[in-house]
Amino acid sequence: MATVRLILGDQLNPEHSWFRRVDPAVVYVLMEVRSETDYVVHHAQKVIAIFAGMRRLADQLGAAGHRVRYFRIGDADNRQAFAANLRTVFAEVGAKRFEYQEPDEWRLDEALRAFAADTALPGGMVASEHFLDGRGGVAAHFQKDAKRWLMESYYRRMRVRTKLLLEPDGSPLGGEWNYDKENRKPWKGTPPPPKPWDVRHDHRALWAEIAAAGVRTMGSPSAEAFPWPRDRAEALAQLAAFIERGLPDFGDYEDAMHTSSDRLFHSRLSFALNVKLLAPREVADAAAEAHRRDPARYPLAATEGFVRQIIGWREYIRGVYWAKMPGYAAANGLGHTLSLPAWFWTGAVKMNCLRHAVGQSLDTAYAHHIQRLMVIGSFCLTAGIDPAEVEKWYLGVYIDAFQWVELPNVIGMSQHADGGFLASKPYCCAASYVSKMSNYCGGCPYDPKDRTGPLACPLNALYWDFWLRHQDRFLNNPRVGMAVRQAAQMPPAEQAAIRRKAAELRAGIEEL
Ligand SMILES: Cc1cc2nc3c(=O)[nH]c(=O)nc-3n(C[C@H](O)[C@H](O)[C@H](O)COP(=O)(O)OP(=O)(O)OC[C@H]3O[C@@H](n4cnc5c(N)ncnc54)[C@H](O)[C@@H]3O)c2cc1C
Repeated sequence: MATVRLILGDQLNPEHSWFRRVDPAVVYVLMEVRSETDYVVHHAQKVIAIFAGMRRLADQLGAAGHRVRYFRIGDADNRQAFAANLRTVFAEVGAKRFEYQEPDEWRLDEALRAFAADTALPGGMVASEHFLDGRGGVAAHFQKDAKRWLMESYYRRMRVRTKLLLEPDGSPLGGEWNYDKENRKPWKGTPPPPKPWDVRHDHRALWAEIAAAGVRTMGSPSAEAFPWPRDRAEALAQLAAFIERGLPDFGDYEDAMHTSSDRLFHSRLSFALNVKLLAPREVADAAAEAHRRDPARYPLAATEGFVRQIIGWREYIRGVYWAKMPGYAAANGLGHTLSLPAWFWTGAVKMNCLRHAVGQSLDTAYAHHIQRLMVIGSFCLTAGIDPAEVEKWYLGVYIDAFQWVELPNVIGMSQHADGGFLASKPYCCAASYVSKMSNYCGGCPYDPKDRTGPLACPLNALYWDFWLRHQDRFLNNPRVGMAVRQAAQMPPAEQAAIRRKAAELRAGIEEL
């Protein structure tokens, strides 16, 4: 008679309180199943990274004396779904109790709740012990009927709660809560970006198992020199390497993009965080401690900017997800209906910025925030692509994409499909922004200065047409009103040329 405890693929924290005591009456179950590999087409590296992490945790638990039941993707007795495999294990061990850690995705939350009720076994859901706030913490912070929940207000509360970067009297360190305006420099080749974290795994055997099982994926597997951590020790080493080499310049170049580096000074810690190899508190603490130790090397603007992403944005996004699901997934406030072009799965597009950002995403399963928001996302928004299609692509392509964090970022922040609930303005740009913040325009066949000519950069007509199409909605928005007015005041002939050009671009979207 045993207790069965389910561990999901993004619950790889070996320090969860479950594991403090070895109990022969407890069986831990991990499973690689088609229900998880197939609900969207995932990037090959994402499937490999999660399976590698699960296998490693299973080995570590086994070595520590815990009982583990593991289903590999190709095992003959693997019935490829949680419920079916759990019933197999229940029968094998004579389960008298069933427990699982709180899932982060609404889909799994519903499914496991229903399954647990159906088994009628005692037990149920326990905390994942990962986040700083509860699922309902963000909703509790804001007025229920408020039109929008401002991240900044929640973030300040989290600063106070965590006591991070505060003066002894409780005011913000340096006098400001947010130093974002200092963090917007383009990067011109110096200082050199930190060398990538240098552990590389050979996951060719695992990739062969995944391929043999027939799992459909996108992107490059990079299985022979696999760059993602598979256990906590490696994730901690990745964190230390970022603090040492990346954090000092993280702030200055947070918004910069360059063809010579996929991450510049960004941490690439989102995978380790989202599968719970790292805890948000320890990541934020490590940055704050670096600044405390050596404020000259770790400027406050860089440290605050980084800490804000972890204790502010990440927690806030999760709170929005739980407050707004399941309806959030279907939000399409701007009524966009165009299909995502096929080059999102190949990177074969002539526009340099998109070729680079989409191509890099397919090659590495990673893009940093500004590539996701201001290049790929801005293109989709201004072109008028169906947000549900955009959401599916983002959910598949990125190594860190789990719906609780991906969906509000895409639907709310990037595609403005929630009527501005999450983001106080639509994030979109014309070629001038891309040209200022990156070197993408160099060598591009399109002219970033032209709006409507045959070789005009498509970003320009799409951008101005976006404001023309949605001017009534955004005219009074203080953050974008100026751009909307500029569009509205263009001579009618110029407006007509922009609308014509944008329509042409949409019709020829596959050929861009
Ligand atoms: C359209 C779009 C889709 C996104 N999809 C995802 C996703 O699927 N998974 C994901 O983890 N992040 C997502 N983000 C947020 C952010 O872009 C990534 O967390 C970040 O690029 C990961 O790279 P990094 O670890 O180098 O981040 P860094 O820039 O080094 O930031 C440090 C950490 O802060 C957190 N963070 C930063 N910004 C956000 C944010 N907006 N929301 C939540 N956490 C944040 C992440 O955990 C990240 O690892 C998305 C953003 C946009 C605009």
